[in-house]
Amino acid sequence: MSLEGIHHISAITGNAPANVEFYVGVLGLRLVKKTVNQDDPTVYHLFYGDERGRPGSELTFFEYPGAGSGRAGAGMVHRIVWRVASAEAIGFWKNRLTERGIATETVGGRLRFLDPEGLAHELAISAVDDEPLAGGAPDVPREMALQGFDGVRAYSRDPARSEALLNALGFSGGEDGAWEVRGDERGSLFTYDPAPEERPRQGAGSVHHIAFNTGSEDQDEWRRRLIEAGAWPTPVIDRFYFRSVYFREPSGVLFELASGGPGFTADEEAEHLGERLSLPPDFEPLRETIEPALRSLPDPRSRADRA
Ligand code: ZN
Repeated sequence: MSLEGIHHISAITGNAPANVEFYVGVLGLRLVKKTVNQDDPTVYHLFYGDERGRPGSELTFFEYPGAGSGRAGAGMVHRIVWRVASAEAIGFWKNRLTERGIATETVGGRLRFLDPEGLAHELAISAVDDEPLAGGAPDVPREMALQGFDGVRAYSRDPARSEALLNALGFSGGEDGAWEVRGDERGSLFTYDPAPEERPRQGAGSVHHIAFNTGSEDQDEWRRRLIEAGAWPTPVIDRFYFRSVYFREPSGVLFELASGGPGFTADEEAEHLGERLSLPPDFEPLRETIEPALRSLPDPRSRADRA
């Protein structure tokens, strides 16, 4: 039983339409699921990913319209690192972002930039053989596309506190706060950086939690293992697209362990993912109340098709 790297990363946006413009229109991801926050169905929960919305490529946003900006601090993920194929791809993204007025910085051959709400991203040339998980945006050549997550960087005041739990979860390494978690198919990096002094603030452009992929649905067994390792996991929660347990690791980062399936084709055909508002069965009877209250979202791909 081992974790197959990152399953998804969930963040907060104050502006869902602008969020779609950036992640679909600029970064070329696919909107694979348009649903509502299961804890507050008046707001969107948007999922972006590769063309099939596979674990390892899923970036999700809870919308809190007009939310103030967040600030990453101790116990929070502060940067998302994506894989790309080559130095040419790094150059492609540098040009594409610059053309759209987005500032970039190249550090050690990697490209850094912020989303419109300040969430930090970095593109790195892939150093592993994991299957590339790429979107199929009409204006992003396949060989240039983002290929899924390489890892995340989080802030900690005392990363040594997290060692025992990460070891119990099968993470390896740990030198200078740099961990890897790898299963049979995929792996991801998880790295701690020294936390800034300022108090963290959860808000627009900040990461809420990071989910790792358990592959099969062994959530009860993982929960047992977590308790044995001294963590305080939630009960197993059925998120319809996956089953999850949540807990805070000792540095304060909110972790989720999510099952690989059933995935986003549980309620939509693969070719029509994300086109209509998906509601889990419990919320379906409320569709007529929920749907009109949500803002309409742009469709950058159909625009790029016409261009
Ligand atoms: Zn989650």
